Amino acid sequence: MKQIIEPQRKIDVIQEADVVVIGGGPAGIAAAVSAARNGAQTILLEMFGSLGGMQTQCLNASFSFIDPAIQGGIIDDITYGLKRNGGLIRDISKESRTGKGMGGIFFDVEAYKLLLDEMILAAGIKPLYHVFAAGAVMEKNHIKAVIIESKEGRQAILGKVFIDTTGSGDIIWKSGSPSISDGFSKGPKKGRHAGLGYTFFFGGVDYAKLKAFRREHPEEWGGLWGGKELIKKSKADGTLYGNRAAFLLSEVWGRGSIWILGPQYALPKGHHPWMTEDITQGSIDLRKQAWSMYNLLKKNVGGFEKSYIEKTPTMVLLRDAHRLLGEYTLTEADIRAAKVFDDSIAVSNMCPDVFGPDDEHEWIGSISLYDIPYRCLISKKTDNLMSAGATISTDFITWCATRYCTPSICTGQAAGTAAALAARKKVSPGKLDIKLLQETLSRQGARVGLKDVPKAVINEYQQKAERSAERSKASTF
Ligand SMILES: Cc1cc2nc3c(=O)[nH]c(=O)nc-3n(C[C@H](O)[C@H](O)[C@H](O)COP(=O)(O)OP(=O)(O)OC[C@H]3O[C@@H](n4cnc5c(N)ncnc54)[C@H](O)[C@@H]3O)c2cc1C
Repeated sequence: MKQIIEPQRKIDVIQEADVVVIGGGPAGIAAAVSAARNGAQTILLEMFGSLGGMQTQCLNASFSFIDPAIQGGIIDDITYGLKRNGGLIRDISKESRTGKGMGGIFFDVEAYKLLLDEMILAAGIKPLYHVFAAGAVMEKNHIKAVIIESKEGRQAILGKVFIDTTGSGDIIWKSGSPSISDGFSKGPKKGRHAGLGYTFFFGGVDYAKLKAFRREHPEEWGGLWGGKELIKKSKADGTLYGNRAAFLLSEVWGRGSIWILGPQYALPKGHHPWMTEDITQGSIDLRKQAWSMYNLLKKNVGGFEKSYIEKTPTMVLLRDAHRLLGEYTLTEADIRAAKVFDDSIAVSNMCPDVFGPDDEHEWIGSISLYDIPYRCLISKKTDNLMSAGATISTDFITWCATRYCTPSICTGQAAGTAAALAARKKVSPGKLDIKLLQETLSRQGARVGLKDVPKAVINEYQQKAERSAERSKASTF
């Protein structure tokens, strides 16, 4: 590839803080709020004009598997805040242990954005929106500053601890810190990244008619994922343009809207979800697929006759990009065995929801509860770099679970609290007293490990996992 030299230049240092959080998705929000509530001067950087990450930019308006016996702290503040501002559309948290569905809550994206602005301002955080974190200035194994690009140009932000919550590990790899970007973990597709995804909302749907249609066609449309036969036939006769073998259709309760996850853009071997050309081609292709699906559903499925495309995402769903290579990497074997860790900072009740490079999908419901160790949040090499959410140190299968929003809030809460304590104690996050961190998290309502979960609840989750293993024996379509 041709290269040119960028001349060295001085840039302005526009802010300085104890904790700098990069990326305002669920993990970043929890990290920033926790850091600030624990007394750290905190800056939150976000490349878009609102917070929420994939939940607002990619329209995943939900938190799955909320359970007060498993999580606590910031997730409660969010649920309460949404209730208060009228943004809570549906609360099915009671189903989290039953295995009936995804448990958790569904919310109004716009009300959620407003709530997050209010939460971070109330915590005293300095937010900077419309800034892209483009790189880092290193001093040996230490990040001195993060470089941002914005309408104002190139500027720097100094900090004591940096938390990468970009969902794609941008600062982890741009700072030269060790990272994981291994891709799909099995079979002939090993090493390829999970494809880019897309989700969109239909408006003007006649629910009553759609419900009746689903009842009349239980085989094809009765489940969460539907339309397999229609898709097969329409792909064969050329009336559908798209990759997916089934659509996930979900009612946005009582609003005449349907949320759909369907379009999928495959990345061939050697292509990566951080490559501009792939993201560009993917964005164009996924939009084309969405319109093709819309035309298909409108013509063939009862209830869609007067529907229209209401909302498409700001950005495509980038799945597995870079993750931190941490002091410890949590593995599938660990979570299958529910391994107990002395340095656990959160419990997760999320099973791996595995999306493969093409249209493979596997829900590993046989995994129940497991600890997340603090060392997964600490860079193996860079002494003041942490991570939370989708980019903690895990193998591919574990990432398919820990990246989800509810565990992301929990690891964000732990990372923010640890960063604030480390800055206050003038130690690197890796040298922080784990007991102090665990006690601080517990006082703030978090469940830090399986030891905090009542035995009866653990049993309920185990029974759910056994039922799931029986039912599916791994469902792949
Ligand atoms: C269609 C869809 C369906 C999903 N379904 C579910 C579900 O049912 N349940 C569930 O729990 N999860 C679901 N997920 C997954 C979930 O949304 C993500 O795993 C989760 O949002 C990850 O959280 P995060 O905070 O780590 O990262 P993200 O949500 O990706 O947030 C990262 C943030 O960082 C910002 N950012 C990125 N790079 C930079 C940069 N260089 N500079 C500045 N800012 C930057 C981004 O704009 C974003 O705001 C779904 C996701 C999608 C898209």
